[in-house]
Amino acid sequence: MKKLLLIIIGILILGVVGFVLFGKKQPVQVGCTMEAKVCPDGSAVGRSGPTCEFAPCPDVSTKTPTDASSKISAPEFVAPLERAGERVTKKPFGIFIDPKTSPIQPEKFRGYHTGTDFETFPEEAKSDVPVRAICSGSLETKRSATGYGGVVVQKCEFKNELITVIYGHMRLTSVEAAIGKDIAAGDIIGVLGTGGSKETDGERKHLHLGIHKGNMVNIRGYIASKSELSEWLDACQLFSCSL
Ligand SMILES: [Zn+2]
Repeated sequence: MKKLLLIIIGILILGVVGFVLFGKKQPVQVGCTMEAKVCPDGSAVGRSGPTCEFAPCPDVSTKTPTDASSKISAPEFVAPLERAGERVTKKPFGIFIDPKTSPIQPEKFRGYHTGTDFETFPEEAKSDVPVRAICSGSLETKRSATGYGGVVVQKCEFKNELITVIYGHMRLTSVEAAIGKDIAAGDIIGVLGTGGSKETDGERKHLHLGIHKGNMVNIRGYIASKSELSEWLDACQLFSCSL
């Protein structure tokens, strides 16, 4: 009888122990290794969780392309002359010019100025003044034209749109690049023409820089109606003309 009681108590103890050990499914704490995985964006993730899987990498697919494309598509414009900010003093972009009131006397032009005039310093009167490409693009035209003397046109892009850049009053014999040749921003295109000569069509020694929107070559330096100015860009908004 006593033996039977011991067996019953034994079975009960085993039952309780078995319930404690196997009855509850407790989460098992695992110590993960300290390995780290490097993600495409350069950050690192470690292992975690019961199976020690790597945490997911941050999702960079939505932000990387916009950041990258905005940098790539932003063209770099440079000033065409040294100390450009000190030179824009007489005819800025959009000024209305009239023979009577013009800051240049005598004056033969009338209308809204489609470009920006960069003056020369007195010490440059007899020396060559190199003109640099303000953007990267192909040489479209180099020829003689009334009002300019030598004029050079380059085709570039601004905000993914074509533009033509007009460099007026140039000495054509100094422009070595052939039509169609690519010129990088900052490369020397040629030098300014001599003041009061055929090279400038009798104008003072200075650079007229015009930027026309679109593919079409339009070298007009002055236009009759103010609304047409919207076809042109102010060069000083593309590079610094301030002191
Ligand atoms: Zn001009």
